[in-house]
Amino acid sequence: MGYKKPSFIENIAEKLGIIPNLHKENYQDFQDDMRHFTDEEVAQMYENFPPPEKWDNWVEYNPKVWPKKDKKTYQIVPTTCFNCESACGLTAFIDKETQEVKKFEGNPHHPGSRGRNCAKGPATINQITDPDRILFPLKRKGKRGEGEWERISWDEVLDTFAARIRKAIKEDRHNEIAYHVGRPGHEKFMNWILQGWGIDGHNSHTNICSSGARFGYNLWYGYDRPSPDHANAKFILLVSAHLESGHYFNPHAQRIIEGKMKGAKLATMDPRLSNTASMSDYWLPSYPGTEAAVLLAMALIILEEGLYNRAYLENWTNWKEYLKARHTDKEVTFENYIAAMIEEYKDFTPEFAEKESGVKAGMIVDIARQIGEAGERFASHNWRAAGASNLGGWCVARALHFLTVLTGAVGAKGGTSPNSWNKFKPTQPNSPKPQKVWNELHFPKEYPLAFFEMSQLLPHFLKEGRGKMDVYFSRVFNPVWTYPDGFTWMETLADETKFGLHAALTPTWNETAFYADFVLPMGLASERHDLNSYATHGGTWIAFRQPVLREAARRNGNPVEYTYQANPGEVWEEDEFWIELSWRIDPDGSMGIRKHFESPYRPGEKITIDEYYQYIFERVEGLTEAAKADGFTGQFAELEYMKKYGAFAIEEGESYKVNENELSEEQIKGSKVDPETDVITKDGKPIGVMIKGKAMVGFPTPSRKNEFFSQTMVDWKWPEYATPTYIKSHIHSDVLDKSKGEYVLVPTFRLPTLIHTRSGNAKWLVEISNRNPIWMHPDDAVKWGFKTGDLVKMNTDIGYFIDKVWVTQSMKPGVVACSHHIGRWRRPQDKIGNRWATNTVNIEGDGKGGWKMNTISGIKPFDSHDSDSKRIFWKDGGVHQNITHAVHPDPISGMHCWHQRVRIEVPGKDEKYGDIYVDTNKSHEIYKEWLAMSRPAPGPNGERRPLWFNRAFTPDKSEGGCYYID
Ligand code: SF4
Repeated sequence: MGYKKPSFIENIAEKLGIIPNLHKENYQDFQDDMRHFTDEEVAQMYENFPPPEKWDNWVEYNPKVWPKKDKKTYQIVPTTCFNCESACGLTAFIDKETQEVKKFEGNPHHPGSRGRNCAKGPATINQITDPDRILFPLKRKGKRGEGEWERISWDEVLDTFAARIRKAIKEDRHNEIAYHVGRPGHEKFMNWILQGWGIDGHNSHTNICSSGARFGYNLWYGYDRPSPDHANAKFILLVSAHLESGHYFNPHAQRIIEGKMKGAKLATMDPRLSNTASMSDYWLPSYPGTEAAVLLAMALIILEEGLYNRAYLENWTNWKEYLKARHTDKEVTFENYIAAMIEEYKDFTPEFAEKESGVKAGMIVDIARQIGEAGERFASHNWRAAGASNLGGWCVARALHFLTVLTGAVGAKGGTSPNSWNKFKPTQPNSPKPQKVWNELHFPKEYPLAFFEMSQLLPHFLKEGRGKMDVYFSRVFNPVWTYPDGFTWMETLADETKFGLHAALTPTWNETAFYADFVLPMGLASERHDLNSYATHGGTWIAFRQPVLREAARRNGNPVEYTYQANPGEVWEEDEFWIELSWRIDPDGSMGIRKHFESPYRPGEKITIDEYYQYIFERVEGLTEAAKADGFTGQFAELEYMKKYGAFAIEEGESYKVNENELSEEQIKGSKVDPETDVITKDGKPIGVMIKGKAMVGFPTPSRKNEFFSQTMVDWKWPEYATPTYIKSHIHSDVLDKSKGEYVLVPTFRLPTLIHTRSGNAKWLVEISNRNPIWMHPDDAVKWGFKTGDLVKMNTDIGYFIDKVWVTQSMKPGVVACSHHIGRWRRPQDKIGNRWATNTVNIEGDGKGGWKMNTISGIKPFDSHDSDSKRIFWKDGGVHQNITHAVHPDPISGMHCWHQRVRIEVPGKDEKYGDIYVDTNKSHEIYKEWLAMSRPAPGPNGERRPLWFNRAFTPDKSEGGCYYID
């Protein structure tokens, strides 16, 4: 952004005050280069955001009546965005007269987002004012799925669920209670609740999202997510579109651009010319599933050309273990390690990688050399994308981290750290002990290495009679729509013998809520409490999502007891709901549950929400001092500081190379060093490793180093993948029959303006993006005679969907793609909801597993309190593609492999846009085919899962306990 000379017309308009004068001297004085300014200076420049001392009484003109100068007085309350995991800072502008939230802007005091947001942040205002939102708790009338609802009280909800859960726990049916989460984001809160109940009841969406990448990273260094330090990098390699829509995308995007402004080169591997690829110096349009081959070819070049970081490899990889296990004939020397790796990857020539991927060999060589030259300042990221798409997708993150290891960029400034180094971990009051039960509906024996719960298989497990869900909470979670195989979800959710009592906790109507018994309205970004902390850069921060009207009421001297008393309707926030429910399950404390939810400050009494957060905040390093410096000195000083600013920087970029931290004398006391491996143990547990005579903390792996060689993979029956490798995927070109019109469909990419199903109630976002056509290269379109807008029939392994073609050179030839998020629906009998985004559809089952869906009508204008609802101009709500996908669980990581083999056809003359057909018998057969690829537990010593692997809501690990198979 820079100074632009005003045109003649602008000049006059500015002088007459018709438009604001943007050309005043020094108005925007930062046209040269923002990187010379500190974060605070940049924040100040951001249009002179109101200073915090004026947040309780901020006056500005009402833009809607400009040029009339109508003054409005606002109270500004910070919170965080709930629309993706980044949790960027928001500030709510509350009209002081009406106590209504009027708009959201960024929060310059938030260290991750620094005042900036993507389109989805400010669109929170659409979500809270959506005419179709759910405002009161509802209970179904009639049969499940029939669409009839009645309003009930929170008391009835709580008593119903408390009684049912109490009974299940007392009857030792702990595994029949589950909480299934889509959008997480309240750090450790649900561990506290569910482990307080003593159940293994957490289920998440992670195996349809990020498990593949997590598994690949974890095998290397015991951390499952990367934290790239883009702003200080020299070379950035992104697998997929992280600049526009990946995890932590707005905080990352601003730092990727900062890195570029300082001279970093950016490369993007993606079969689509995404917005990210178009901003890159290099676009590598790899054939889906071949990314690991390209990365291993780069590794070979770095090894052969001596571009690796010798000291790092020597100190921080388990090369001795590798040579001893795999090259018994060789002397254990570093030179032999390098020679063995070159031998191991000798087939991964640039030419081989080009043959597999289509990426030019010359470009692979060029990028490999630049990565080698960048050395420690090599930042990279893979999250969903390739890691979430292919059989063996986890190999992509593993191969990518290989480059990070070779260059010594692990945890370096400008490199890529483990995300835990940049993330805060809360200490909770009355923390429960790990549960003593293991739920095989979440972690079945067949998938002992699965990085998260096998949630995509839950309906198949229930169909097979492996168990039932007596009490099931779906929380901001919509598997009928978001997951593959949605008709199988519908069949099981409708069956009361499989799901006994189902509550959908959701801010908005969704396709899964239609099959619930209770629909419980939960708060949006400005209506709930959550603690956030994410690895957005080389630094650590916390943020406080808070119900802004409740906070405004407190500031104005009208405090409320429960958040729903301040929120619209009776929209509650979850923390209070779960505390209240826990209290009612065990009203007299006899079950040992209630004690976890007692106040740490008022023994025997129920904890309040303020007490819960104060307990955490008073343990945050530096926050007490910051609060004091700001004048807060009372019992809730730290909480008051967080309520005021919404965020706090715990540290601002000192957390590099944490593995080199030396153990303290206290830690070393009583420890032992293994002479063979140099691993330091204490009380039988590894705590560090000797490096060049120093006791360092290392990484949380068995060797305390990066594990090039994984004995874990050997022990758990996958010796062929003991070192970083490439697995030909389920959609490799060798397995597609082009003569039959088979293609690979990339169904995973996000649009920057939408977020799964949650943006369906945000009019601005849906106005921007409302269709999901099939991206097709012109060469492929010519073969089929397609032009943009023509209908295409996409046959999957279990059915088909009919979509429209978009002919574009942005797609790699031979590959087609369809965006996520779009194709939302409701049936005629359903409660109206998300009318900005939903088609009305008809669904018919034949009673034998065959299901048809067809569109009755598209999106239409409607009457409501929002006059924009009459101005809807878009009609086409897209097509629901995921429902036609079979489940494809990777046999190792457990990740659903999203890419589909599709057979393209020209539709018959009676087939229409939006038509869908699925056979759920076929989907169950395919589930079994993939299940047969698994290699079940137990592993060594009867373990269900490697003890050093993290697990969500880790159960008790005592020997002979639930972590072991009898
Ligand atoms: S990146 Fe956008 S959607 Fe995600 S938290 Fe930030 S503002 Fe919200």
